Amino acid sequence: MVRYINVRSKTRNEFIDITEMVQDVIKEAGIKTGVCYLYVPHTTAGITINEGADPSVQRDILNALNRLIPHDMNYAHREGNADAHIKSTIVGASVNVIVDDSKLLLGTWQSIFFCEFDGPRHRRIAVKFIP
Ligand code: ZN
Repeated sequence: MVRYINVRSKTRNEFIDITEMVQDVIKEAGIKTGVCYLYVPHTTAGITINEGADPSVQRDILNALNRLIPHDMNYAHREGNADAHIKSTIVGASVNVIVDDSKLLLGTWQSIFFCEFDGPRHRRIAVKFIP
């Protein structure tokens, strides 16, 4: 069974902390131990695990990606979102997290972030548990 988390981004480039939403899905599903596989079925978004305690880290990552991959360049893809496709590939479309005692086995400072690169939009994250 695949479950989905729905999010709504508010800006073009944005990190959305989905850690609590994932934890809620684990609780609802009654999962005790296993692997939580999170997958973003979008070509202009991604998912990553990084520091959640200090929001300036998310800003620094987004700023660095924007410097590396500017919005306005002479891209072949003429839809106006080539930068978002490139960022999506660099960040990646999936992460795995160990679930132990019904809890995500994250480090003290780690959070799971949905990464929007072509917002604002409605998006979803697929969640699959492997016992
Ligand atoms: Zn495109």
